[in-house]
Amino acid sequence: MLFIELASAFGEIEKRSGRLEMTDLLSAIYKKAKVNEIKKLTYLVQGIIAPSYEGIDLGMGEKFAIEAVAHATGYSRKDIEKDYRKAGDLGLVAESLLKKKKQQALHARELSVSDVFDAMMRIAKSSGTGSQQLKIRVLAELINNSSPEEGKFIVRFVTGQLRLGIGDPTILDALSVSKAGDKSLRAELERAYNLCDDLGLVAETFVSSPNKIKKFEVEVFKPVRPALAERLATPEEIIKKIGECAIEFKFDGFRMQVHKKGEKVEIYSRKLEKITNTYPDVVEATRKLKHREMIFEGEALAFNEKKNRFFSFQETMHRRRKYGVEQAKKDYPLYVYAFDLIYLDGKDYTQESYSERRKQMEKIFPSGLLKISEKMAAKDAEEIEEIFQESVKKGLEGIMAKDLKAPYVAGARKFAWIKLKKSYGKSVDTVDAVVVGYYLGKGARAEFEFGGILAAVYNPDRQKFETVAKIGSGYSEEEMKSFHEMLSEIKRKEAPSIVDSNLKPDFWVELKYVVEVAFDDITLSPTHTCGAKDGKGYALRFPRMMRLRSDRDAREITTTQEVIEMYELMKGK
Ligand code: AMP
Repeated sequence: MLFIELASAFGEIEKRSGRLEMTDLLSAIYKKAKVNEIKKLTYLVQGIIAPSYEGIDLGMGEKFAIEAVAHATGYSRKDIEKDYRKAGDLGLVAESLLKKKKQQALHARELSVSDVFDAMMRIAKSSGTGSQQLKIRVLAELINNSSPEEGKFIVRFVTGQLRLGIGDPTILDALSVSKAGDKSLRAELERAYNLCDDLGLVAETFVSSPNKIKKFEVEVFKPVRPALAERLATPEEIIKKIGECAIEFKFDGFRMQVHKKGEKVEIYSRKLEKITNTYPDVVEATRKLKHREMIFEGEALAFNEKKNRFFSFQETMHRRRKYGVEQAKKDYPLYVYAFDLIYLDGKDYTQESYSERRKQMEKIFPSGLLKISEKMAAKDAEEIEEIFQESVKKGLEGIMAKDLKAPYVAGARKFAWIKLKKSYGKSVDTVDAVVVGYYLGKGARAEFEFGGILAAVYNPDRQKFETVAKIGSGYSEEEMKSFHEMLSEIKRKEAPSIVDSNLKPDFWVELKYVVEVAFDDITLSPTHTCGAKDGKGYALRFPRMMRLRSDRDAREITTTQEVIEMYELMKGK
């Protein structure tokens, strides 16, 4: 397939915002593509070159992209920087310079989707001395062979600014429509995607062997999209919902998905990034387990030996920072509380019940670094309350109630797991929101150039981030400084197109940081767009910053639907 066909479809998609139109345009592309192009095509649409767990990054900063555009178009770097400052989009600059380029008509050859993808891969894989020059050369050659429209999207892609607004759900819809003419195959595609966070592979399997997609199973070293917990406000509601259940403590650490095959072990974060190298102690302990192949999940917490208690979440996260792994291992010894089993010696456990998975787990985990999270039985609300109070006494976050009969619901928030959290002040819970913009400080805060943030939750139906709170309190001076530093690095003039906001912060930012926000209540107000109907959206009342959640990305924040459910819960109380 020619890249120009894809670039034209991108151009059309960019002009539309309706999900149905996007789906149709994309499904037409899928119909045209050959089987061996499906994977590459899918990654290009996602704006990546490999699933995030493979850790393959283009490593092409803006500066180098500018240089490549200069090489390819014959304009000076200074000119390009000037145009870029004006337009705010390097892709548009490349497009207009390519239009002006006199010998454009002679551009050397037509690019295929594979040509473009393979060049991107070459850029990503070149490392070491001289690699930057090589990257620039490969990109310049690609731009040189491009039409203006192709050049625009290539430049946006390499600088991470593709932003077509095509979410994964639209890609799944488009794949289904490309084969069935409607969304009837969407469920099986979604199931496969939840079991394997590689949409390229899922798309390729779907197109090449329909039978295999129906029987798609988890595979070691292909991370599974994590199951999520629902929330309820009281033990009574939990019992009403799932009856007699198992209760585990909810540890406030970070989630790990550990994969093992023989001697090889890989660890993935909740965002499904590979984090193996940071945790040699967990790798070693996993290697010692007697099973040859396994995938399990657990919550990792660092233990403060001096004080004989767990470190806080913030302190535990020091283990993830880049400083000597060996030193960190000593200063922050980890324990992993295994809480679920996904795969064991050739058997996919995702369809087995919680009880069955637990039964297997109890045979596997020794005590030591890898422990099994304790399971307690609860027949009624009183028993849940007792365990909840015990968790609060222990300084834990609360409890997780688990439906004994439920399978492992990869990638979904179902009532298989229900969290009951310790309240923060009057609030029953907190919201994980993404920072979409920030305000400059006034008065005493002017010196920090930081006055607060604008935060949004995600509405998967609209594929939009909708604002829910402006958070001006809860920051220490230290935090104000570091928020300013972090956010000013990713600031931008325009709101990202996937953000829906009535407010205009001093600066918009790339959707990179997730924060946990406590609040007193949820109200309806015209200020925010979360779940907005008749001009009124849901808004957090007295929101305050709890912490930065560096273990999450914008994909996994609280949804609009959850905010509405919390509103109903709070209203009912
Ligand atoms: P939340 O982040 O508040 O939505 O709660 C879900 C998270 O709690 C999971 O992603 C885990 O990281 C964490 N967690 C802590 N303890 C457990 C447990 N015993 N079972 C399941 N998840 C747990």
